[in-house]
Amino acid sequence: MKGRGVALGLLCVVLTGCAGTAESAQVQFFAMDTLMSVTVYGRQGGQAARAVQAEMNRLDALWSRTREDSDISRLNAGAGSGTAVEVDADTGVLLERANTAARESGGAFNPVMAPVMDAWGFTGEEHRVPGGEELEALLPLTLTLPWVASDGEEGGTRAALTQAGQAVDAGAIAKGRAADLAREVLADYTVTGAILDLGGNITVLGEKPDGAPFRVAVKDPGNTEELLCVLTLEEGTCSTSGGYERYFEADGVRYHHILDPADGCPAESGLRSVTAVSTDGTWADAYSTACFVMGAEKALDFWRTGTEAAQTLELVLVGEDGRVYVTEGLAEGFEFRGEEKGYTYEIVYR
Ligand code: AMP
Ligand code: MG
Repeated sequence: MKGRGVALGLLCVVLTGCAGTAESAQVQFFAMDTLMSVTVYGRQGGQAARAVQAEMNRLDALWSRTREDSDISRLNAGAGSGTAVEVDADTGVLLERANTAARESGGAFNPVMAPVMDAWGFTGEEHRVPGGEELEALLPLTLTLPWVASDGEEGGTRAALTQAGQAVDAGAIAKGRAADLAREVLADYTVTGAILDLGGNITVLGEKPDGAPFRVAVKDPGNTEELLCVLTLEEGTCSTSGGYERYFEADGVRYHHILDPADGCPAESGLRSVTAVSTDGTWADAYSTACFVMGAEKALDFWRTGTEAAQTLELVLVGEDGRVYVTEGLAEGFEFRGEEKGYTYEIVYR
C-alpha cells in the first residue's frame, strides 16, 4: 500500500501556552486503507490519541475486505451458504446502519456493491471497463441487503448474505462509523478538544486551545491542491465524496469509484463532489456518497424532506457546471474561495 511505511504510529506531544495549559498530542498511522491523523488537546491527549489508534486498528481488523479473518471477509465468504456468521456487535451496528442508509437514500447508497467494484478492478491492482452484459449479470447481487440479527446484550450478533456471490463493501460508511466510535473512546479521557482526520473524513469535538471554532477546508474538486471553501464546524464530522478521489482512465475516458447502483457504472449525476456535515459521522459518510449518486436536485430534496438522518445533514454540492450549493446550516462562517476559479455559490434554505 502506498505510503504504508510512512509516519506509522508517529506520536508527538507538543506543549504550548505559558502556563502549560494547552497540551496537544498528534498520532498518525495507517488503518482502514488510509492515512489517519488524530490530534487531541488536553491533559490526557497522548493517551487518548493512542487509544483512538488502537480502536481504529480494531475496526480495521473487523471491517477489512483484504484480511481473510475480518468479519466482513467471513460474511462475504459465507454468502449464499445458508449459515449466518458470528460478528462483533460493532459490525452488526455498521451493517444495520448501512441498510438504513440504503433504504433512506432510495438505493443510491448500496452496501453490497463489492462484486461490481471488483468488476471495475477498483479492489485489485488492474482497472478495467466491464461490458454491459457482465454488469447486468452482477446487478441482481446488489438487490438484497445483508441480514443482521442481534440477540441483545448477552447474546451475539449474526449476519448473513442470502445470495451466493454477494459481498459487502463498507468503504462508503466505515470511516464515518469509525469516527463515531473514536469519539466514544475520547469520552473516557480528560480532553478539551480533538481533530480526527480519518482519510479525509474530518471530525472535530470540543474546542481548540485558543477557543476559536474549528475550520475545515473543502478542496476544489477540479484542482485538489487548492481550496474551494472553508467551513466553520462546531462538533461533528465533515465527509467528502468526489470522483477525483479514486479513478482511472481508459481510451481517454475517466472512470471514478462511486458507482450508481442503478446501472453499476460510475455515477454521472452532474456533481464533482459532495461534502456532508453531520453530528453523526456515520450519516455524514454514508450520505455524502449517496448524495453524490443522487445529483444536486435529488440530494437537496432528500435534505429537505428526508427522515431523521437527513435532518442532521448539511451539504456542500459542487456541480460540474461550477455551481456550488451550500445548505443554510453552513452559512455562518462560510468562506468562499472559488470565485477566481470560475465557481459561483448560493445558500439553499429548507
Ligand atoms: P466515499 O469515498 O465515502 O464516497 O465511498 C466510496 C467507496 O464506497 C467506493 O470506493 C466503494 O468502495 C464504495 N461505493 C461505491 N459506490 C457506492 C454506492 N453507490 N454506495 C455505497 N458504497 C459505494
Ligand atoms: Mg461516504
